[in-house]
Amino acid sequence: MSDVAAIIPSQIFGPTYDWPAHITGLAYIVAAVLFILALAGLSKNETALRGNIYGATGMGIALVATLYQAVSYQAFGAGLGVTTTLTLALVAMAVGGAIGVWRARTVEMTGMPELIAILHSFVGLAAVLVGFNTFVSMGDEVATGHVDPSTLGFHLGEVGVGVFIGAVTFTGSIVAYLKLSAKIKGAPLTLPGRNWLNLAALVVSAVLVGVMVACVTVSGGTLTGMTTGWIALGLLTIIALALGLHLVAAIGGGDMPVVVSMLNSYSGWAAAAAGFMLNNTLLIITGALVGSSGAYLSYIMCQAMNRSFISVILGGFGSDGATSGEAKDYGEHREVDAGEVARMLSEAKSVVITPGYGMAVAQAQYPVADLTKKLRAKGVDVRFGIHPVAGRLPGHMNVLLAEAKVPYDIVLEMDEINDDFPDTDVVLVIGANDTVNPAATEPGSPIAGMPVLHVWEARDVVVFKRSMNTGYAGVQNPLFFNENSQMLFGDAKDSVEAIIKAL
Ligand code: NDP
Repeated sequence: MSDVAAIIPSQIFGPTYDWPAHITGLAYIVAAVLFILALAGLSKNETALRGNIYGATGMGIALVATLYQAVSYQAFGAGLGVTTTLTLALVAMAVGGAIGVWRARTVEMTGMPELIAILHSFVGLAAVLVGFNTFVSMGDEVATGHVDPSTLGFHLGEVGVGVFIGAVTFTGSIVAYLKLSAKIKGAPLTLPGRNWLNLAALVVSAVLVGVMVACVTVSGGTLTGMTTGWIALGLLTIIALALGLHLVAAIGGGDMPVVVSMLNSYSGWAAAAAGFMLNNTLLIITGALVGSSGAYLSYIMCQAMNRSFISVILGGFGSDGATSGEAKDYGEHREVDAGEVARMLSEAKSVVITPGYGMAVAQAQYPVADLTKKLRAKGVDVRFGIHPVAGRLPGHMNVLLAEAKVPYDIVLEMDEINDDFPDTDVVLVIGANDTVNPAATEPGSPIAGMPVLHVWEARDVVVFKRSMNTGYAGVQNPLFFNENSQMLFGDAKDSVEAIIKAL
């Protein structure tokens, strides 16, 4: 960029001032501030819309500024020329934008987690490609004086780290996508000595980055040692791809929420690494924001689920990897119909609704909101108990209930409601399973230690689902066989509508 900085101002704005770089820099600062405001806004339901607007505005400014900088650079013969650069950029944006709009309009709310996972994989792949491109063009950069030979080692380190994080994110996200969309099922992959394998992959990757830095040097204005550098980079990429695959394949179903937010964090660090390679400050800032907020979200989720943060990021380190509890004989379950549930509800003084993934599948949030309104109008105390990993996204249930205009003040977190179940007359478990599974309190269960909603302590429990199938973690649920539990089989939306009719 240094000679661009010298050419542009002398031709357009006079000999001393580098306007394009300064205008872009200013625009990037404004965009970065808007991204920070967006994150702050997204932390609460009430301000989420404003947060989204800040984020979209920041991204718009960033796009225009980056295009402006690229065009300014091309205007002075530094590459493909203005028309070709603009055409390529706009065509790429139009194709990407069209696919983005199509996916955003067609994706079901329940398909969001896998969509997010696959988008993370694109960020990882982009970082890998940027790394390879930087490595390919390094010889030219040195020959034309854009890269100072004394900083070559640093640039090679950037390439190595960027490709490593990108490749781990790429395959890790693809495995997460396959698991979340149920395209791969079954027990987590537990290779013998898997923690040692992960550690060995990390150490060998660090050594390979060292080999690149040590072997690729400048001699007489050109690069030497590129063959060794290519071999090291190739091996590093293969190892990182395998590591990403292994890390996520080793995680059990119940821990997937943490993995999704961890991959979100990795994709941020991959973007930051790409920012270093492309010398783009906004990409570094944005990547660091995504990376650190994703890491913090993972930490909070680990605390909420009583899981070790280190264990989860190291691919299930320290866990025994069990995923499906033994099928035990818990006896017979009892069934109930909508009319009987309506009668129970109209006689109840306090009702707690604990929604889960099934409510999202059935899109039952609107009739659930109507039922809540009806019961409250009759003087029944209705509240919601939300488990931190209910559904398939952090905050999934809160979003659905907010969409259906359920008042925020009756939507309580698990910790706020768990002590109140013994004083509750009726609990409606609407499409939840793992998050209300008492097996979590049994040592040896695959979900042992995960905090759950203690719905079984209420006087009566009605479980809305379509069959006796297990939930996402594949663990049988003894709640369904309790004396005070009754099953209301059918699609959750139809069942709630039938209750409203009967009330
Ligand atoms: P679960 O996935 O454990 O169970 C959902 C239940 O809903 C199933 O048992 C299913 O039973 C029922 N169901 C599905 N469709 C319908 C329908 N149309 N009508 C009525 N019932 C229906 O849900 P939870 O919310 O309790 O738990 C979430 C799980 O997902 C946890 O294990 C969590 O770790 C995991 N997870 C969470 C993520 C997050 O960020 N929140 C991300 C990734 C995973 P049936 O088929 O019999 O109807």
